[in-house]
Amino acid sequence: MSDTLEMPSGDMPPEEFRRHAHQVVDWMADYLAGVGDYPVMAQVRPGEVAARLPASAPDAGEPVDDILRDFRDVIIPGITHWNHPDFFAYFSITGSGPGILGEMLAAALNTNAMLWRTGPAPTELEARTLDWLRQMMGLPEGFHGTIQDTASMSTLIAIAAAREAAGLDVREQGMSGRELPKMRVYASEEVHSSIDKAGITLGLGRTGTRKIATDDRFRMDPAALEQAIVEDRAAGILPLCVVATTGTTSTSSIDPVAAIAVVCERHGVWLHVDAAYGGSAALVPELRGVLDGAERADSLVVNPHKWMFVPIDCSVLFTRRPEIVRRAFSLVPEYLVTPEGEGVTNLMDYGPALGKRFRSLKLWMTLRYFGAEGMASRIREHCRLATLLASWIDGENEWEMMAPVPLSLVVFRHAPRGMDDARTDAHNERLLAAVNAGGRAYLSHTRVRGRLALRLAIGNLRTTEEHVRDAWALLRQMAAEVRADA
Ligand SMILES: *Cc1c(COP(=O)(O)O)cnc(C)c1O
Repeated sequence: MSDTLEMPSGDMPPEEFRRHAHQVVDWMADYLAGVGDYPVMAQVRPGEVAARLPASAPDAGEPVDDILRDFRDVIIPGITHWNHPDFFAYFSITGSGPGILGEMLAAALNTNAMLWRTGPAPTELEARTLDWLRQMMGLPEGFHGTIQDTASMSTLIAIAAAREAAGLDVREQGMSGRELPKMRVYASEEVHSSIDKAGITLGLGRTGTRKIATDDRFRMDPAALEQAIVEDRAAGILPLCVVATTGTTSTSSIDPVAAIAVVCERHGVWLHVDAAYGGSAALVPELRGVLDGAERADSLVVNPHKWMFVPIDCSVLFTRRPEIVRRAFSLVPEYLVTPEGEGVTNLMDYGPALGKRFRSLKLWMTLRYFGAEGMASRIREHCRLATLLASWIDGENEWEMMAPVPLSLVVFRHAPRGMDDARTDAHNERLLAAVNAGGRAYLSHTRVRGRLALRLAIGNLRTTEEHVRDAWALLRQMAAEVRADA
């Protein structure tokens, strides 16, 4: 028993924290300065990192120096470097300097803004910063923002709100044990999987999402949407929500939101805009057209952790109907009742999570550090680099563009003459594997009308024209090598 009494207690002593914090910050500064020297994609096999970790936690505490040594020796080799200037896969992102500082401070404060009184500044900074962002994106007044972890969660909340707005009393009665019409969400065939997943989670099922055909530029066809809604209504199905995407994941196509909004208004259906990636382009005055029509949406998601240089995670859900979101999610047990009552915003009311990280700090610091003009010039440059690469690809006979480039994503493939489609697919798969295995650049792939295509996304603050030029040279070199090997 006396052993227990002699056990150390309390946190790391302040001076020890200070020493290691300085060490860690120095490591971070060196890392960010030299991140381009690492292989972009982790060069480890599945299980390799786990095999180097003890099977159980230590009984006795360990010195920070030992822990940091293992961070460098065991963890870092298993890191795929999203902050690398040659990271072109999925959507390329940046944890910027000001964003990282905000994340560090938020960790130190460890505040949980579930209620206004548990986080007055986080609650009010979130509202103010998101109103800045609303203005920067050219959205009208009346859009109310909250920060969520991911676009997947933002969209889940939006569709839950659409279901609440439909007046089926799902909140009280639930989705089972009673007569309910089949409910539908509509989205283009290019839509992100998070919409299907929201349908799965909300009890709509996979058949609850109906995919609408796209045109030759991969944009939702509003006439086909309207026809689907009319057909479903006639069959007794209840249209809940339309998800329009500005910047689809596969090809960055931009749905005609204004025309889709007309259909939604005519049929009384909630319009949610998935602008997780493309919404950031609205920070560039001449690209603001990407959000044309979005002012008529009921809700919109944009991810500052995607193309606004804020460290993951930070997703913003804007809605013109915050009272519906609250109606769907607010539930206040006695132990969370506060004397402020209805006079304040309690962030726990706007989604399924109670706890609320202080994510607005890193967004605020990033927007202030770069300013509206600095944000715009960086995003504009990414678009310029993408257009430049597309022009190089267009200039080569044996390469072809697979989709237009409205923003900063280039979708293309190597198409040697005389190769049929199946062999071209296999060839591009091998090419992608060879490029990624080399560790000098990291790209991802998609299928465009069934054909394998390479995706090169530009969005990292360290990516320069030289990096794009080198990646293009590498692609051509590897294409020749892979072909010679075949
Ligand atoms: C990235 C992306 C998502 C998913 O974002 P998460 O924040 O990872 O959930 C959804 N939709 C689109 C269009 C995206 O680009």
